[in-house]
Amino acid sequence: MNVSLEGRTYVIMGVANKRSIAWGIATSLHKAGARLIFTYASDRFEKPVKELAATLEGQDSLFYECDVTDDEAIETTFAQIKEDVGVIHGLAHCIAFAKKEELKGEFLNTTRDGFLLAHNISAYSLAAVAKAARPLMTEGGSIVTLTYLGGERVVENYNVMGVAKASLDATMRYLANDLGKDGIRVNAISAGPIRTLSAKGVGDFNSILKEIEERAPLRRTVTQEDVGDTAYFLMSDLSRGITGEIIHVDSGYNILGR
Ligand code: NAD
Repeated sequence: MNVSLEGRTYVIMGVANKRSIAWGIATSLHKAGARLIFTYASDRFEKPVKELAATLEGQDSLFYECDVTDDEAIETTFAQIKEDVGVIHGLAHCIAFAKKEELKGEFLNTTRDGFLLAHNISAYSLAAVAKAARPLMTEGGSIVTLTYLGGERVVENYNVMGVAKASLDATMRYLANDLGKDGIRVNAISAGPIRTLSAKGVGDFNSILKEIEERAPLRRTVTQEDVGDTAYFLMSDLSRGITGEIIHVDSGYNILGR
């Protein structure tokens, strides 16, 4: 069995900066020998993503702008990737967004517009990119998305993003069922809280981190590298029998009762 990812190509969607979980995944896959392709939301991210990728020794990365709210952009991006590399072996979907003002206070105050926006970017996008990636995954492969406990339980302030994560989790399972016959596995990593650009938008995030340090079985928060190595496992043949699953990388916090 091959645990090296040499000779394989993976699309990493959602690196914004060096704190991004997507970047943790990129570095783990790079260490395992994978070739990486990066997509970013807008030209604002082009320079930082290219600068980060340049730090990966021996990596000959490709870069594409892809706003996941735009069907045409998704189609064009994957058509271009097909032209440039032919086959891909996996995709890391590390994308979410909700209005900052809806990530505090009561969920009841969520607007229709905010609800649809969060679901569009954070959940539907997985289905859209999986559909576009399928024709490139002719050798089978692995799609990994990032979810959070707030989709399974009520987490204060997480609000509409929790509901979008529940939708993402279900989307992941339906995709796993559709794509299994093509040898494509689809799984989610439920990461514990990590200080990133997106996490800044969640109200009182520091107290969520403190709770993990004090109460999670491992008594520590998780790192981008912890999540990255689990993504490597899910991209590799070691996980060949796993699909439609949520793996918690959260120091065990999810097993606790209150
Ligand atoms: P991040 O801000 O570094 O990454 C979020 C990415 O989403 C950014 O690169 C952003 O550009 C991208 N994005 C937003 N709208 C987009 C659009 N329309 N098109 C394309 N890309 C778009 O933050 P992160 O914490 O690394 O988030 C990555 C994923 O991990 C998200 O799904 C997030 O919900 C999930 N997650 C984060 C935590 C945490 O505590 N940080 C915990 C569990 C799950």
